[in-house]
Amino acid sequence: MTAHSNIYPTKALQEIDAAHHWHPFSDMKSLNEEGSRIVTSADGVWISDSDGKKILDGMAGLWCVQVGHGRKEIADAVNRQMNELAYYNTFFKTTHPPAIALSEKLAKLAPDHINTVFYCSSGSEANDTVFRMVRTYWDKMCKPDKKVIIGRWNGYHGSTLAGTSLGGMKAMHAQGDLPVSGVHHIDQPYWFGEGQDMSPEEFGVLAARKLEEAIDEIGEDKIAAFIAEPIQGAGGVIIPPATYWPEMRRILEERDILFVSDEVICGFGRLGEWFGSTHFGVKPDLMPIAKGLTSGYLPMGGVLVSDRVADGLMNSGDDFNHGYTYSGHPVCATAALANLEIIEREGLVDRVKNDIGPYLQERWLRLGDHPLVGEARMTGLMGALELVPDKTDLKKTFPDTGTVGTICRDISFQNSMVMRAVRDSMIISPPLVLSHEEADFLVKSAEKTLNDTFQTLK
Ligand code: PLP
Repeated sequence: MTAHSNIYPTKALQEIDAAHHWHPFSDMKSLNEEGSRIVTSADGVWISDSDGKKILDGMAGLWCVQVGHGRKEIADAVNRQMNELAYYNTFFKTTHPPAIALSEKLAKLAPDHINTVFYCSSGSEANDTVFRMVRTYWDKMCKPDKKVIIGRWNGYHGSTLAGTSLGGMKAMHAQGDLPVSGVHHIDQPYWFGEGQDMSPEEFGVLAARKLEEAIDEIGEDKIAAFIAEPIQGAGGVIIPPATYWPEMRRILEERDILFVSDEVICGFGRLGEWFGSTHFGVKPDLMPIAKGLTSGYLPMGGVLVSDRVADGLMNSGDDFNHGYTYSGHPVCATAALANLEIIEREGLVDRVKNDIGPYLQERWLRLGDHPLVGEARMTGLMGALELVPDKTDLKKTFPDTGTVGTICRDISFQNSMVMRAVRDSMIISPPLVLSHEEADFLVKSAEKTLNDTFQTLK
């Protein structure tokens, strides 16, 4: 690709791309008409495209580049490991030093009751692993009827069969006749979109009690697990009301079901703690991880497993018949170790909690005063702006959901900042190394984008 970008002008690259490359989650017809954006290099929080334009990466790629782009020490570590042991597997009682070191490191970073990791290559694979793990766990516990997994509408847990099924994206379910059987969805804690008739506090408790209701309806003896993101990311940065997770915690402590905290986005410092569930004070039995584990430098995921589940599953005398060719891949594990070392050395988790997090939040929340914005919200370094047609009636939505969001997203690119649109809300999740100056740029650019969008709609 480097060679191509040196030789071909943007238009020619776009034509080749349009002819042969099927992009994920993309309207290929319009993409091919407009041409794709070609990113050629990146450094820190900035990406550069094939026309030489520099754009602030307000989404950290896909919520993953915690340490920023272009960190040479990760590249160097990967290079050394490639030369020493580029590949070996971890099946059948074999392992290698990078997988050993990373497992020890993750056990140290995880809450005290979590000391084991099962590896894979992505967040989706992590959730497929979870799917089989929780059901097999209850089989081993001699409770084979506990099979149902409860997820939430508008949750996102990946694109594979299990990931899509556990997630609550109706447009995804519609393709491939999903969810698979044995998955049940409850409402999400989306106060702005679904709860404005009551206070956020009341709504938070009510939304949590949907889990209790579902357990009573289906029967506790039939339920294996509840899966949730601490903050829904792909669903539109849905930050639950303050009462939600405490009420959930009560329910989860009272009921004998496993709790799976999907930490694929919220893990590795995004909310100012190593894991999002720690931020909200809830205790998971399993934590799928990916993204920030390697800052996206190489694909790697895993499931962090509590002692309760590990003891039940691993010491039963049977194999857990599950695994991937790339489970614990030595080069990916090396990238993860180098990435975690940077996060620790530079104090990035604490920085989100006490420095850049509060700094950006204060400025971002002020955008809530803009005539186009119904609500501005942000926790850690995850933020959203709800675009509305009428600021005096926040329940009103734009007629063709998503159109204004897409216009705003495209304008944001022109204003040198990546913001993603989910329906008609604009979301950000910048790298944890964002400086104060870059945060100022981000907010200024977002404000200009709102102004430009507002003018376009007039
Ligand atoms: N879980 C969550 C919470 C995610 O946000 C994602 C991806 O965005 C996934 C799982 C799936 O991860 P991957 O795309 O690596 O398969």
